[in-house]
Parts: sequence; C-alpha cells; structure tokens
Amino acid sequence: MDPLLKHMVDLTTHRDHSMLDLSVISAVQELACALRTRLLSIYLLRDQIYVMPKASISQLQPAQIEEHLDPSQDGEPITNYPALAHCIQHNLANAEHMAEDGLRTLWLPIWIKDKANVCLEITNPTPYTSQTTQIISGVVSVYRNFQNLLDYSERDALTGLLNRKTFDDQLAKMIASTGEQENGSAPDGEERRQRHKEEKHWLAVVDVDHFKRVNDQFGHLYGDEVLILVANLLQSSFRSNDRVFRFGGEEFVVLLRSTTYDNARKIIERFRQNVESHAFPQIGQITVSVGFVAVSPYESPVVILGHADQALYYAKTHGRNLVCHYDELVREGELATSASNDTAEFFFD
Ligand code: GH3
Ligand code: MG
Ligand code: MG
Repeated sequence: MDPLLKHMVDLTTHRDHSMLDLSVISAVQELACALRTRLLSIYLLRDQIYVMPKASISQLQPAQIEEHLDPSQDGEPITNYPALAHCIQHNLANAEHMAEDGLRTLWLPIWIKDKANVCLEITNPTPYTSQTTQIISGVVSVYRNFQNLLDYSERDALTGLLNRKTFDDQLAKMIASTGEQENGSAPDGEERRQRHKEEKHWLAVVDVDHFKRVNDQFGHLYGDEVLILVANLLQSSFRSNDRVFRFGGEEFVVLLRSTTYDNARKIIERFRQNVESHAFPQIGQITVSVGFVAVSPYESPVVILGHADQALYYAKTHGRNLVCHYDELVREGELATSASNDTAEFFFD
C-alpha cells in the first residue's frame, strides 16, 4: 500500500486521543523524512501562552507520549519560539524558522475555528518542498477532523462535559498513573519527590440538591437549563488540567490532578460556594452536595467511586450543600468502611 494511504488508514483506526497523536507524528515523521516530529500543546497559563510537548518521535527514538504531572512546571512560554508566537497571534497556517546550526523547524497549528490548542512541529536539516508541506497539511486536516469526531463521541450532548464512558477510561488511566508514581518512577529531585508525596489525584462526586423540585415546579426545560449552568460553573471553578464529567442525570464527577488534600478541599468548597451564590434565572438559588476521596492505586474504580458516593450520601443526610471527605468521615467514626454503597443508598431518603 502507498505509505500515505497506509498512514491514513492507521490514523483513522483509533478511538483514543493518545493513539491518534502517536499515529499523526509517525505519519508526518515518515512522510517528511524528518529528524524529529513533535505534537505540542498550546495553552494559557496566568495570561501567558505556553507550549508543552504532548508526543514526540525522532530518528533515534520511537513515537512516545510525553507525560507531564504539572503543566505549570513543565511548559515553556511561547515567546521562546518567536516564529510560532507570531503564527499563533495572526492565525497563520504555518511558520518556519532556521536555527544557527542550519536546522529548520516547521510549525503547523491545528486550527479549530480561531483556536489552536495543538501544533505539529517538524525539524529537518533540509528545506521543506511545497509538496511536502502540502501533504503534511493534508495529514493535519485529517487529524483535525478525526480529533473533532473523537471529541464529539466523548462528550455529553446537553452540557458539553465529558461523558460517562470517557470517565471510565480516564479513571482507569489515573489509577494506573498513580501506581507508577508510587513505585518511584516520578521525576527525580528531592524537592519534587517530596511534593509528589503530598500530592494526590482526587475524585469528587457532585449531585444537585432537590433537583426533582426544579423539574416539578418549573418544568424539564428549566431543569435542563440549570444542568447547563451548573456544568459551566464546574468548568470555571476547576483548573484546566482537572477533568469534569456528567455522570448521569444531575450527577457530575470531577477528577482533580496532583494536588494536596487542603488544595482539593479548597477548590471543591469554592465550587460549592460558586453554585450557592449564583442567581439561576427564574429559579433563584440552587445548592450542590459533594463527596470526595483520594484516588488510590490499591483500589478498584468501583470501590473508589463507592467511597465518594458514601461521602456524598452523608452530605445529603446531614443538611445538603456540604462537601464531605470519605477518609475524614471514616476517621471520625461517621462512616463504617465495610458499608457498601448499596447499603448507604437504601437508608437514604
Ligand atoms: P437530592 O437532593 O436528594 O439529590 O434530591 P433530588 O431531587 O435531586 O434527587 P433525585 O435523584 O430524586 O432526582 C433527580 C431528578 O433529576 C429526577 C430526574 O427526573 C431528573 N433528571 C435526570 N436527568 C435529567 C435531565 O437530563 N434533565 C432534567 N431536566 N432532569 C433530569
Ligand atoms: Mg440530586
Ligand atoms: Mg442524583
């Protein structure tokens, strides 16, 4: 099969963002006979644009996903790459730069409407012919369309949040990465190791209080509107590397990445307050209850979720509009560790 066709088939086989990323850099690397190809994330942090490698391949190294624990530490300001910064600022299709050693870098941002969150970067010792640039641009377009399709299949139609299926995949990945970290494969440096020891991943289950009343009093359309507004408050209250899912009905789940207990509680508490103080059109005030727990590599997704649920039900039976931490409740003797989620649900009104 023609190499281009072979890469197109490979690119459209995947149902996973990471596999798709690996495919696109492998295709571009081969088609451009490049020295190195990288996929860069482009993101905003404290009003500055940053870039950070997501995946890379070189003549010396096979295609690999770059794992980053902390984007605020691992990224580089885009101003380190003036040609790329200019390209992003002016919505250009590509940018090229020749370094003093003669190496040429070509950047191709993946534009979706007027936003580019991802950019392809190709490094080569020889100039890029217009034919190469054209072929690569075509590959980038296929990648962009497919990325869009994947995004669509991962999201909930009403709120635009990530859906339940995506949650299952991401929690499994998060548990696996927690295991690796605990086994000592975290980046070296004593200070970093210490920080990683205190930082954990967290899972929070959020449930709208007395949501049935909203539907009963105002109708389903208003109910739907509340769900959209709560989804927006979730998106704006959590950090960009946390993940927010609609779990079903009026229940949401948040995965918070690498943060301390104090920080996790502070962020979740801030979200609870943001909901409480929001004026919902026609309806007025709404509140949410939250149960949260650390994501442990030694427990299954079902158990972790069950614990967060138990903390949520505790909040529901103790006045609602509360944030409850599973381990704290167990420590204080308020929850029995053996009580299953099913049992808790039976006693809950
Ligand atoms: P609690 O404080 O105990 O959580 O009370 P609640 O009324 O929120 O809890 P319950 O689980 O009894 O009610 C959830 C309601 O959510 C029932 C269901 O009709 C409604 N619901 C589920 N999905 C949707 C949706 O997509 N749109 C709307 N408008 N309502 C939904
Ligand atoms: Mg509810
Ligand atoms: Mg519910």
